[in-house]
Amino acid sequence: MATTASEKKLLIAGEWVETGDWVDVRSPYSGEVVGRVAKAGSDDARRAVDAAEAAMREPLPAHKRAEILVRVAGHLGRRHEEVARTIAAEAGKPLKAARVEASRAMSTFTFAAVEARKLAGDMIPMDASQAGAGKLAFTQRRPIGVVGAISPFNFPLNLVAHKIAPALAAGCAVVLKPASQTPFSALLLAELMTDAELPPGWLNVLVGPASEIGDVLVEDERVRAITFTGSGEVGWKLAERAPRKRIKLELGNATPVIVEADADLEDVATRLAANAFSFAGQSCISVQRIYVQRAAYDELVSRFVPKVEALTLGDPLDEATDVGPLIDAGSRERVLEWIEEARTAGAVILTGGSLEGELLRPTVIANAAPELKVSCEEVFGPVCTIAPYDTLDDAIALANGTRYGLQAGIFTSNLRTALEAVERLEFGGVIVNEAPTFRADQMPYGGVKDSGNTREGPAYAVREFTEDRLVVIDL
Ligand code: NAP
Repeated sequence: MATTASEKKLLIAGEWVETGDWVDVRSPYSGEVVGRVAKAGSDDARRAVDAAEAAMREPLPAHKRAEILVRVAGHLGRRHEEVARTIAAEAGKPLKAARVEASRAMSTFTFAAVEARKLAGDMIPMDASQAGAGKLAFTQRRPIGVVGAISPFNFPLNLVAHKIAPALAAGCAVVLKPASQTPFSALLLAELMTDAELPPGWLNVLVGPASEIGDVLVEDERVRAITFTGSGEVGWKLAERAPRKRIKLELGNATPVIVEADADLEDVATRLAANAFSFAGQSCISVQRIYVQRAAYDELVSRFVPKVEALTLGDPLDEATDVGPLIDAGSRERVLEWIEEARTAGAVILTGGSLEGELLRPTVIANAAPELKVSCEEVFGPVCTIAPYDTLDDAIALANGTRYGLQAGIFTSNLRTALEAVERLEFGGVIVNEAPTFRADQMPYGGVKDSGNTREGPAYAVREFTEDRLVVIDL
C-alpha cells in the first residue's frame, strides 16, 4: 500500500539538502524499495553542528519552544495515518502497533511542551549556614549545548521524539542520526517540526554511514551531549570515546517476568502472548523469559500457547497482522540459530521455531538451560522461554541472571510478594500485574547494569540536557 515515503533530502540549517548520493531503504517484508534518502558524510555532519551551534546563539524563549512542541503534536495528530504507514512501511511494524507508536509520539511532544514551560532552578536556603547568611542564591537550568541524537530502527518515530522533544524543551539544538534502515519517520517528523515553525538549525537530520557521522558527534567539542538508543556494543563504545561529554545510553534487555500461582492466569496468558511477539519481539522490553511458580506452570502453558498460535502473521500493512518480519535476513538467521542452539541442548519448542514463508513463527521454548543465549542474551525476535520455579528466591535469581537490567515484571495477587520482588529485582523498572513491556511516555524509563545509564521520559530527559548555573547575590 502506498505511503508518502519516496524520496527525502536531509535537513541541515533549515534547508532540505541533496548530496548527490542516495541510500535505498527497503521494506523488511517485501524487500521492495520504500524510497531513497540523501546520504550524508562527515562534511555534512560538521555543517549540521555549525548550524546547531549558530541556532543556539539566539536562544528560543521557553514559551516559543513549548508552542512549537504543541504544534508538532497537533501535526502528528492530523497526519496520524500517514505517519503510521511510514513506520509500517520502513520498519515492517504491523499497522496496529505503528498507529500506537504515532499516538505515543504525540504524547511525548505534549509532555515535552509542559517541561519547556516548567523548566526552573532552585532557591538555595543561604542562611542555613553561617557562611551563606546575608546572601541570596538560586540556580538556573541552562541548556547544555548542542545535542547529538542517535536512534534505532525499532521505534523510528517515538524514540526520535524522546530525544529531540526534551532536547528542544531544554533549549538545545539537535543533530539527529536516525537508523539507516528507518530514516523516513524521522525525516517526516523533521518536516512537521519545520511546519511548526521551528527556526533553522534547531533540528538537523543526517542519514548515512553511522561511524562517519558518529565520529563527528564524538569528536566535535561543540556537541556537549549524545543521547543514544541502540545496542550496548555501540553505546558503551561511544561513552568510552567521549568521557567529557554527557553520553546517555538506552540499551537492550532480556526481559523477565515472574508469574506466581496466585495470579489470574487467563489474564497473564493474554497479556504475555500480546507482549512477547509484538513487532516480532523487536522491542527492548519484549517479554523474553517467563518464570512460572511450579503449581501454575502446566495451566499457564496450556492457556498461553494457544493464544500465541492464534496470532496472525503477515504483511505489516495488513490490518489483521499481529506479527510481521524481522528487520533483515541477518537478524532472522541469527534468531533461528539461537533457537537451534537451544533445541540441540535439549530445550523443547512448544510452538513455532520455524519459518512461515519468510516470517519467523512466534516461538515458545521450554526447558532452556539458563546459560543458553535465549535465556540470558537479548533475542530481539519473536521468541520467549518459559520455565517453572519452586521459590520466589529461585525466580528472582533466574530473573536477575543476565547482564541486563531495563524492566522486569511480576504477576501476583499478594502485595507483600510484589513488593519483595520490587526490592530484589535488579532492573530500572519493575511492573506489577502488567507485562514488563509496558511503557507510558511520561515514565522515567531506563536501565541499570548493561542496559544503560539514564532515564528517558521528557521530565527526566530534560534534566540530562541542562546544567545548573548558580547565582549568588550579596545583599
Ligand atoms: P544499533 O545497531 O546499535 O544501532 C542504533 C543506532 O546506532 C543506529 O542509528 C545506528 O546507525 C547507530 N550506530 C551504529 N554504529 C554506530 C557507530 N559506530 N557510531 C555511531 N552510531 C552508530 O542498534 P539497533 O539494532 O538499531 O537497535 C536494537 C538495539 O536497541 C537493541 O539492543 C535494543 O534493545 C535497543 N533498544 C533500546 C531501547 C531502550 O530504550 N533502552 C529502545 C529500543 C531499542 P545505522 O542504522 O546507520 O547502523
